[in-house]
Amino acid sequence: MPRPILATIHTESLRHNLARARAAAGDARVWAVVKANAYGHGIERVFDGLRGADGFALLDLNEAERVRALGWRGPVLLLEGVFEQRDLELCSRLDLWHTVHCDAQIDMLAIHKTNVPHRIFLKMNTGMNRLGFAPERYRSAWTRLNLLPQVDEISLITHFSDADGPRGVAEAMAIFNAVTEDLPGERSVANSAATLRHTPGGPLQQPALAAQVAGDWVRPGIAIYGSAPDFPAYSAADWGLQPAMTLAAKIIATQDLQPGASVGYGSNFVAGEAMRIGIVACGYADGYPRICPTGTPVLVDGVRSRTLGRVSMDMLVVDLTPTPQAQIGTPVTLWGRAANGALLSIDEVAQAAGTVGYELMCALAQRVPVVVE
Ligand SMILES: *Cc1c(COP(=O)(O)O)cnc(C)c1O
Repeated sequence: MPRPILATIHTESLRHNLARARAAAGDARVWAVVKANAYGHGIERVFDGLRGADGFALLDLNEAERVRALGWRGPVLLLEGVFEQRDLELCSRLDLWHTVHCDAQIDMLAIHKTNVPHRIFLKMNTGMNRLGFAPERYRSAWTRLNLLPQVDEISLITHFSDADGPRGVAEAMAIFNAVTEDLPGERSVANSAATLRHTPGGPLQQPALAAQVAGDWVRPGIAIYGSAPDFPAYSAADWGLQPAMTLAAKIIATQDLQPGASVGYGSNFVAGEAMRIGIVACGYADGYPRICPTGTPVLVDGVRSRTLGRVSMDMLVVDLTPTPQAQIGTPVTLWGRAANGALLSIDEVAQAAGTVGYELMCALAQRVPVVVE
């Protein structure tokens, strides 16, 4: 028998979360962001749940090929554009829309031979300082692109550095608007945080800007996987999002501890009183963060409990005090949904690890079997 650990992808929850993002975005169309193998969920596994999107956004050309191989004929956007000249051939062949964020990408386009002109998303750097043309150089890039026979429609795009935090989107939006005011073309600026927080109806919207934040296309990623982009200010439950992934394992042994007995490597949890513990078939080699300290929340048989001691490669330990009936074979939910309907947000586990839900879902290990339901 394989180790009793399993990740489950919830198709209905993906559909629900996509609908949630769509409702927040008003009339805007929705890119489902499926980069990083759909944030660790698997592009092929999420496809059914997300096929109601208006397009798929990603950045690896192999992933774009996989989306086409699934039969998707609609828009596919490369969020970082091409990396080398021959990538443009794939864009022509598979009809990929692509971001242009630097002069080198315009140079490549200018010598690309294609019968069909490309749809371009021209990126502005509005303060993130990763990709994009500086505001003062944006219009000349637009003009240069617009003169190329290889280029069809040009859309306008930027990415917020602070949509999830107190700084918000106002400064970046003001820069973007000032530069693009009289340019034609569709606009796309909002990730999950901006889509949920700053569009019309969002709790942090600025009425003068909210419609522009929604723009013509929103680009939610993390929200469609059921994690809050701005936890703990808001939780997935606050946003009406459902976990798209459950990571569950089973208890493979129990121990009765006497007061003073310790648990795991480094003996860093010591029982204050007699207690029963469960050994769970999930460790850091499955993608569960080793850094999670004693007290990280888990669900044992759908009842909230906590981890004890250090996470090891193949196992972790849970407190069975709240579930005296637990025994070998009892299910333990590391994140997601338990059989009784109880939820444990990946964001809570990520917080215990000092990181974000994104990192945990992306780090689900290869060796964990995955089913789609
Ligand atoms: C990853 C990414 C997104 C989605 O971000 P989330 O925070 O997951 O919603 C949107 N736009 C771009 C350019 C990205 O790289």
